[in-house]
Amino acid sequence: MNFHTFHIKVVKFGGSSLADAEHVKKVGDIIRADPTRVFVVPSAPGKRFSGDTKVTDMLYECYNVSAAGGDLAEVFSKIEERYNDIIRGLGIELDLTEEYTHIRWAIAHSAGRDYAASRGEYLNGLVLAAYLKYDFIDPARFVKFFDDGTFDSETTNTLLSEELKKHENGVIPGFYGSMPNGTIRTFSRGGSDVTGSIVARAAEADLYENWTDVSGFLMADPRIVDHPQGISFITYRELRELSYMGATVLHEDAIFPVRFAGIPINIRNTNAPEDPGTIILSHTDSYDPSSIITGIAGKKGFCVITIEKAMMNAEKGFGRKVLEAIEKENISFEHLPSGIDTMSVVLNRAELAGSRDRIINRICAMVEPDAVSVEEGLALIAVVGRGMVKSKGTAVRVFKAVADAGINIRMIDQGSSELNIIIGVDEADFEKAMRAIYAEFVS
Ligand code: ASP
Repeated sequence: MNFHTFHIKVVKFGGSSLADAEHVKKVGDIIRADPTRVFVVPSAPGKRFSGDTKVTDMLYECYNVSAAGGDLAEVFSKIEERYNDIIRGLGIELDLTEEYTHIRWAIAHSAGRDYAASRGEYLNGLVLAAYLKYDFIDPARFVKFFDDGTFDSETTNTLLSEELKKHENGVIPGFYGSMPNGTIRTFSRGGSDVTGSIVARAAEADLYENWTDVSGFLMADPRIVDHPQGISFITYRELRELSYMGATVLHEDAIFPVRFAGIPINIRNTNAPEDPGTIILSHTDSYDPSSIITGIAGKKGFCVITIEKAMMNAEKGFGRKVLEAIEKENISFEHLPSGIDTMSVVLNRAELAGSRDRIINRICAMVEPDAVSVEEGLALIAVVGRGMVKSKGTAVRVFKAVADAGINIRMIDQGSSELNIIIGVDEADFEKAMRAIYAEFVS
């Protein structure tokens, strides 16, 4: 098989798409419906119903029990049951007894926390490979981390692309790889998304399909806005803005490998495969004047330090000193809206908590301001859309919608890329402001 003449899709399935045999059958149908779906990246079985436990969490539990000197037999047998149920439900000939014995032994003999967690994907990969009759490709051999635990993208890409060329198809478990000394290392939680992206890049895929339990991204959080519209197309940059503000469907790090390679991601719904989902891509020329806004997202839990000083704008190094005072506490700032004689720094309240007084004292010592104030209880809302560059009056519409809803705007920050407008409102007004903005642009 030659990568350059065939079309290839890499398909990643999340834990809820693989929670039981019934779901795995749907996954099989999806894969078989399109012969270009040649490389499959599974998560570990997730929750079958609300209140259920993900296999990954059960594996962490095994590790904890064993690290505390306990007997992991009971928790581990529940894990075995989960896989055995799936295997039985699929009606395949697969006996994982030896695998179970080995894994249980390894966890009990200090194989490590990441090793334990990774076995959820590993076992699910074996099941899926047997069911689909695809090759099983163990990422421990190809997905590599540096000694400091960070991901080694280039070595991985070289090793993995070489390997994939040897296979017509394959199942590559998500979430883990290995350290230079061979021990297993996982990405952070939800990391199978990252593996999918890495495999897509290595396979030079045309598309990275990420199958989950929602039909892509919505324009706003459905817990706040009633039945928000879906997003058909979104750029990587817009997605970064929205996910920074709390819109989560995809692991943040999953964007980088495919973005680098110019491969679009399509978020799809395993339970509604006919839905086209959301396509994430580098840029899109499609410009629809009726949809200036791509999405709205927001978060509570911010506070603002405002520093006032007459003639501040003429004072060299003023901003640097303020930021240095914050950096010294090892805190990162979120936004920096500034006026002529005022500068505000927006910070995450939880991060600031223990260092607040020290920061204020340091700012006072370093820049001798006329006044410094700290305001708590700020929520930020980001209105994001590539269409803003081309349309006039977007900011006015945002402000008017919020003002008409009787809400006071406490902060405004428009990115110079004109991709977003961020406003700060009282936490108590957060939901109302989100709904007002949504109604202005979407209804
Ligand atoms: N199974 C892992 C987790 O629960 C990774 C993943 O599902 O992507 O975080």
